[in-house]
Amino acid sequence: MIERAGAVPLPDIAEGPARPAEQRPNLLGMRPEDLLQWAVENGVPCGIQEARKVLGHIISEGNDDLYAMRRPIGKALVRAIDAGTRRDRLRVLERFVDPVDTSVRYLFEHADGLRSEAVRIPLHKPGCFSVCLSSQVGCAMRCAFCATGRLGLERNLSPDEIVAAFLTVRDEAPGRVTGAVFMGQGEPLHNYDAVIQAASVLSNPCGGRISAQAITISTVGLVPRIRQYTAEGHKFRLIVSLSSALADRRKRLMPVAGKWTLDELAEAIREHQAATGGRFTVAWVVMSGENTDPAEVEALQALLGDVPLRVNLIDVNDARPDGFRRAPDVERKAFMDALQVLQVPIVRRYSVGQDQRSACGMLAATWSPNDA
Ligand code: SF4
Repeated sequence: MIERAGAVPLPDIAEGPARPAEQRPNLLGMRPEDLLQWAVENGVPCGIQEARKVLGHIISEGNDDLYAMRRPIGKALVRAIDAGTRRDRLRVLERFVDPVDTSVRYLFEHADGLRSEAVRIPLHKPGCFSVCLSSQVGCAMRCAFCATGRLGLERNLSPDEIVAAFLTVRDEAPGRVTGAVFMGQGEPLHNYDAVIQAASVLSNPCGGRISAQAITISTVGLVPRIRQYTAEGHKFRLIVSLSSALADRRKRLMPVAGKWTLDELAEAIREHQAATGGRFTVAWVVMSGENTDPAEVEALQALLGDVPLRVNLIDVNDARPDGFRRAPDVERKAFMDALQVLQVPIVRRYSVGQDQRSACGMLAATWSPNDA
C-alpha cells in the first residue's frame, strides 16, 4: 500500500465558482423553452416553433450561420436573435489521436483563457462514438489517484461551454455520436444545474438528439445532490465511483468521503435504485495493493449487498512515477473472482487514450505528448 504524507484536505463541496456572466446568452446552452423565455423577456416575437427551428439548425445540424436556415423564420426575427444572443464555440488548441485505440483528446481554450478537455471514444459498434465531457475546469474533489484532482478547481463550465465541446467533437466524428459521459475534468454534481441543463440540451430533439439513457453522469458521491437528482426524476444514467467500501481507506483515496459516511452514500444509492429500478452501477478504480483485498469485498457486500448492482472495474491511470499502480492480471482476476460472491455483473471497463493521456483520471489540460 502506498503511504502518503499528510492528511488530504476535504474538498470544497459548495457549488464551484461560475464563469463571469455574459450579457448575451449563448444559444448552445438552450432548449426551445429557454429560447422562448429569452424572447418573452426581451420582447422578441418568437414562438415555440421558431425556437425549435433555430435550435435545430444551430445545435442538431451544427450550423452556426443563422442566416442559412433551411426552414426560414423571417428575416426580422433572425436579426433580433442574432443581435441578442451568441452561438460561439470553444477554440480547439490541439487534438491528440491515440494510435492504439483511435480515441481523440481535444484540448479546448475558453474565452477567459482557461482550458478543458473532451475525448471522442470509439464504441464497440463500428462507426459509433461516445464523448467524454468535462463539467468543470479542474476539480475540487482531490481524489488521490486523479491528475485533475491535483489541479484544484478553477471554475464551473457553463451549459453552453459543455454543449460546445460536445458539438465540436460530434461534428468531427467519422460516424455517429450516440452517447455522452460526464467523466472528464470535474465532479458533475458539483456543477449540478449546468450539467443537468447541458444534458437536457444534449438529449433534446432540437439539441444533441442523444437518448437520455445514453447520457451518463458519474459522481464521487455528493449525497445531497444524488438525493436531489433522484427526487427530480432525471432520466440520465447516474453512477457512483466508489473505489473502496472501507471508510478510512476511502477517505484517504477520495477525501469527499470525509463529508458523508459510506452509510449515507449507500442510503442515497438505495433510494435512487428503488426510484429508477434496474441495476445501479458503481465504478471501482482498481489500484494494486490498495483496494483489491478480501476486506473490500466483505465491506462492499455488507454495505450494498441488498441492492441490485453492476460493478464496473476500471484500471487506475496514474502517470506519476511514484503513483498508484495498475493491478497485475493475477491480482485483478482474484479480486473479480472474490466479487462473484455479490452475484451481480462484474464488468471490466477498458479506459481509452492511455497513450495520449486522455484516459480516466489523466485529464489535466496541460500535457501534450510533445512534452514527453
Ligand atoms: S476522479 Fe473525478 S471527482 Fe475525483 S478528482 Fe478526478 S475529476 Fe475530480
